[in-house]
Amino acid sequence: MDFLFTEKERYKSGFMSQSCFVCKNDELLLKGSVKSYSLIECSRCGLQFLDPIPRKKDLDQIYSNYYKAWGIEQWGHEVSAMKRKTFRGYLSQVAKFISCGKLLDIGCATGELMEVAQEMGFDVYGVEISQEGIRRCKKKFGGKKIIDTELEYGNFPPDFFDVITLSDVLEHMPVPRPFLDILWTMLKPDGILMTVTPDTCSFARRLMGMKWLHYKEEHIFYYNRSNIARLFAPKFKVLTQKTAYKNLTLTYCASVINGYIDHGYKRFFTYLITLLPFRIRHFPFLFNIGEMFILCRKGKE
Ligand SMILES: [Zn+2]
Repeated sequence: MDFLFTEKERYKSGFMSQSCFVCKNDELLLKGSVKSYSLIECSRCGLQFLDPIPRKKDLDQIYSNYYKAWGIEQWGHEVSAMKRKTFRGYLSQVAKFISCGKLLDIGCATGELMEVAQEMGFDVYGVEISQEGIRRCKKKFGGKKIIDTELEYGNFPPDFFDVITLSDVLEHMPVPRPFLDILWTMLKPDGILMTVTPDTCSFARRLMGMKWLHYKEEHIFYYNRSNIARLFAPKFKVLTQKTAYKNLTLTYCASVINGYIDHGYKRFFTYLITLLPFRIRHFPFLFNIGEMFILCRKGKE
């Protein structure tokens, strides 16, 4: 369902948003709903976002239990191994531009990206807000390497990092531009910003429509390749944009699908997976679930 709202109609319908923060267009479309939020799309640049923006206390409530959403508790070693393979793929792209120095992983979760980066020779730092993630990362990397609150100016000196990574993070940010300004300040001149985030123009999004796995209340902004380049400019210059692949096992996929989809096919799908040999069920395949991979270089202010 696509409805174009005039400003007056938008006011009557209770929309909070007045315009697209990326391109300033005020023609907004109602695409559907995500839980109790409206999903809005900018008619010009295609940026999608939740309306109203979820309140901090509602987001804090979701993140207080977020550790469970990573599947580590349930699948432990299998999830860790999948994540490490995925991050090794991402960081091999980064290494084409910078292969050593200081690296900051925002939303470092249980620290798999930091582990792989450390093995590759980076001096690693992390930012995490989930208590279980903080506990695990401080144990692995030492308390001084982990910031356990949202990132702020002053957590690190200006021009400190060679690489900053945002894997599945940008879509969670309620005020993306000030956040990117902080990263810009902390990156060295010519430093690299790596971003992985859902892509609204991806095949997976087109195929699944409003049932796309990424539509959830903690994902506030949904970008595509063109509007994200516009968001980054002029402070960051895009070097690479490509499809992001994740290493996932079929068993893990079945557990995620079970958690998300409400119709009868899921039982059939998970039953089919149980018929496969153990090695295939637990073998990590490369999947694209509708995300894009972007490398940017720090530009001039
Ligand atoms: Zn726009």
